[in-house]
Amino acid sequence: MSSDFDIVIVGAGAAGLAAGIFAGESHPNLSIALLDRAKTIGAKILISGGGRCNITNQRVTASDFHGTRKLIDRVLRRFDEQATIRWFTSLNIPLQLESTGKYFPVSNKARMVVDGLLQRCKDLGLSILTECPVQDLRKEGELFILQHPQGLTRARQVILATGGQSLPKTGSDGSGWPLAQHLGHTITPTYPALVPLLLEPSFFHADLSGLSHDVMLSTTVSGKTIDRRRGSLLWTHFGISGPVVLDTSRFWVQAAAVDKEVCLSLNCFPQFSIRDIEQWIVQSTSQRGKKTIASLLSERLPARLALKIAEFQKPNISQLPVNLLNKEARSKLILSLTNLRLPILGSRGWNFAEVTAGGIPLEEIHPNSMESRLIPGLYVIGEMLDCDGRIGGFNFQWAWATGYIAGTSAGLAVTKSITQEVQSP
Ligand SMILES: Cc1cc2nc3c(=O)[nH]c(=O)nc-3n(C[C@H](O)[C@H](O)[C@H](O)COP(=O)(O)OP(=O)(O)OC[C@H]3O[C@@H](n4cnc5c(N)ncnc54)[C@H](O)[C@@H]3O)c2cc1C
Repeated sequence: MSSDFDIVIVGAGAAGLAAGIFAGESHPNLSIALLDRAKTIGAKILISGGGRCNITNQRVTASDFHGTRKLIDRVLRRFDEQATIRWFTSLNIPLQLESTGKYFPVSNKARMVVDGLLQRCKDLGLSILTECPVQDLRKEGELFILQHPQGLTRARQVILATGGQSLPKTGSDGSGWPLAQHLGHTITPTYPALVPLLLEPSFFHADLSGLSHDVMLSTTVSGKTIDRRRGSLLWTHFGISGPVVLDTSRFWVQAAAVDKEVCLSLNCFPQFSIRDIEQWIVQSTSQRGKKTIASLLSERLPARLALKIAEFQKPNISQLPVNLLNKEARSKLILSLTNLRLPILGSRGWNFAEVTAGGIPLEEIHPNSMESRLIPGLYVIGEMLDCDGRIGGFNFQWAWATGYIAGTSAGLAVTKSITQEVQSP
């Protein structure tokens, strides 16, 4: 079977759906198809944000992303968080702001997001072909030829929106990159990002499973601290997770992948200086010296964590009265409280990563249209690109923004070429 469309979008995830809708809305007379390898559309959106879909953030800037920031900035300016809020309202999906700065649907249901996007596609008459993995893409003259198990599809313009490699069971398995590579694009090395980290089994994390608290995490690569961030850390049976760990993970994963010496250290007292902690312990020695170390620490830390850190000292000082803590042991304890080196084994990998770091370099794409600088008529959007955001709705904002730019630009390009064809004798 073969078919012809003005615009074909490969991948009907967040970015692809946005591109299709904006192309259809801005240029209603065009024939537009979305081809997706998955059986059902929207699997990743459905599980996003814990099933609630964190659609955007109250403030989105290029500094919330990793990648070439001046190009990211140009993209974000074209379709910002306010545009996203207006667009979702127009899709009958009103959003609400949470105290964390994240926007979710008022319904708190990601299902509403998928249904709203699909309904708009239907209203606009877009064709959606499922179980249609695109295996080959080539350009013959002015037309693109897409090959897939259902046959051949020809298109005037093609938008690649096949995502990255995170959570491959949703359909995003990295099979889209070779399509761009065959046409001349490069792919920077890819890594799982926003991913939980595994700790050595002998460490104490499993006993703290389920506990979360405020920390500062620092990443040091080859002796230089390259990232320091504060937020909530969640201890789990395998290691660590929670927003601050997910945001930090890309640095660890990237450095480890190229065999650099990388170290993650934990400060359980981000709100206090070392001097404050020292004074507190010294004062406690005189005021309530009979207290055990574990009990003292639990005044300022969750009790389970306080016990584990005191037990972790060599020798174990958990039951030692505070007034028997000598200066050397006190210094070691303060070091463990503020600069504890975490024995990271690795990440939980693609099946648990929320996003992909790396991809097609932004330098190969025009940021005002998302069109390839190498292949006219080809557009690349969403997570395929070498741009990844932190936790908080930033990755979806990137998907909507790049989808908007590519959809409207591809629509305009087809309309212009049709007009030229009609006018030429
Ligand atoms: C568990 C989880 C929770 C998340 N929560 C949030 C959140 O709350 N907020 C946020 O901002 N971000 C979140 N993210 C990240 C966000 O989901 C992604 O950044 C975003 O979905 C990327 O959109 P995309 O359209 O580029 O790619 P995807 O959504 O991955 O879509 C790619 C599509 O392309 C299809 N495809 C792949 N290869 C082919 C091919 N060869 N032929 C045809 N089709 C193909 C796939 O089937 C898929 O449907 C989360 C991610 C995960 C995994």
